[in-house]
Amino acid sequence: MSATAVRSPVEFESQLQRFRYERMEEARAVRVGEKEVSESAEIVARYAELFTREQRDALRDAEEAAEGDDRERLYRLRKMCEAGLVEREIAAAADALENKLLAARVNFRGEELPLRAASARVAVLPAYGDREELGLLAAERSAELNDDRMTLLRRTEQLEADVSGEPDPIARAEEEKGVSLGELAAVLAEASARLTDAYVAMRGRWLDRILGSERDETPMSFHVGYLRRLSPLASTYSKERSVDVCLETLRAIGFDLAEQPNIKLDLDDRPQKSPRACVIPSDPPHLVHLITRAQGGLHDYQAFLHEAGHALHYAGSNDDLPFTFRAIARDHALTEIYSFIVEAISRESGWHERHFGLSREQAAQNSEAASLVELLLFRRYAAKLQYELEFWGSLGENGGMADRYSELLTSATGIRYRPDAYLSDMDAGFYSADYLRAWVRSSQLREHVRRETGDEWWCDPRTGDLLRSLFAEGTRPSSEQIAEQLGFDPLDTGPLVRSRGA
Ligand SMILES: [Zn+2]
Repeated sequence: MSATAVRSPVEFESQLQRFRYERMEEARAVRVGEKEVSESAEIVARYAELFTREQRDALRDAEEAAEGDDRERLYRLRKMCEAGLVEREIAAAADALENKLLAARVNFRGEELPLRAASARVAVLPAYGDREELGLLAAERSAELNDDRMTLLRRTEQLEADVSGEPDPIARAEEEKGVSLGELAAVLAEASARLTDAYVAMRGRWLDRILGSERDETPMSFHVGYLRRLSPLASTYSKERSVDVCLETLRAIGFDLAEQPNIKLDLDDRPQKSPRACVIPSDPPHLVHLITRAQGGLHDYQAFLHEAGHALHYAGSNDDLPFTFRAIARDHALTEIYSFIVEAISRESGWHERHFGLSREQAAQNSEAASLVELLLFRRYAAKLQYELEFWGSLGENGGMADRYSELLTSATGIRYRPDAYLSDMDAGFYSADYLRAWVRSSQLREHVRRETGDEWWCDPRTGDLLRSLFAEGTRPSSEQIAEQLGFDPLDTGPLVRSRGA
């Protein structure tokens, strides 16, 4: 490595901001199908001078001499430098895997479908047998890339161990997140167990209704997308109305998304556009992209509201904060609180009644279906965290992990997850734990907001005021600090369990 100039922390932060902007704009172009080839490795190479061991050491020295918020800011900058060091090494391999995924096709009844389009299509096929057939084709095609996934995963893990000096991936994640993952998993397993009766009762009712009586007792996970749309009710939750209804929903709590110039909406339908909605905060609070692809069904509304929560959070951060505290968090647990609470509006019976012309009874039923799906996801994630702890705890001799994945997820959900999805169904850095912390926290926040505004919290502008004051803090606080601000113990799952019928 050449002896390049080491930047001061302030200089490093300002160049990191530019690097991040370029990276995110590139990721956005690929994600939305504007570009067919991912070239993020080229951007990483161009900013290579930011990501050196000398720079990392300089940031660490500054960090050790600092206190309070400054120390935290320098810690996050150092972590970004370390992540960049890892990425420089793996960017080409990561691009290669991404490009293989983009190029993968499945042949479904004479039609060549890109793998991503196939996964999206499964969710909208009306016939049970068709979903099984296309779901299986897509799953098998995806599993062909498992060796590439495993190679990349091991290489990344080695580099992270080396760059951070912490060889244990679980200890490393715990240090960054500032929580004990074992403790979190135990508390969540208990919450999940307390919700088993409620889950089993709702599951039986709604699986029959949505998947039909010819369904398997334990249906394949291919049907989850269809389930999330509440497909037989798709005419109620039409694709055409989703944006308008969501914008109106947000206006009711005091946010005018369409009038916020710093939030760019991309709602178009393109063949290579990923069906997963997302927010790309390229330069918060000035430029935040909200990307969705409506397919019809309730899930469109939920995905839009979820991403709107993220977008409003980033776009609502106080511009006076240093860049680090507007854009960089230790993990995703903070921003997911805000996506979860906005999405939670879609489980309010009153919301279904107000926007879809339903009777009170019908609205209550549909909101129960939405709650079932949410509980399914919660139980799936609690099981996923358990699985990921086992996976990372035994990396190297993880022979039985594919079966373990299937066993844990299937028994938690009553939906069959294929063993060979054990790598594709895993996000980096224990994202599952971040989601779960957000599940706990957003339930606490909802309880707090309800205390302040009442049962109609979901259409009360005071809800927006409460959220706005949290958004202004940007990415500075941890999820656990928000619990403190709200007066809850970070691991108090009471609000989560109470609001979900147990
Ligand atoms: Zn999210």
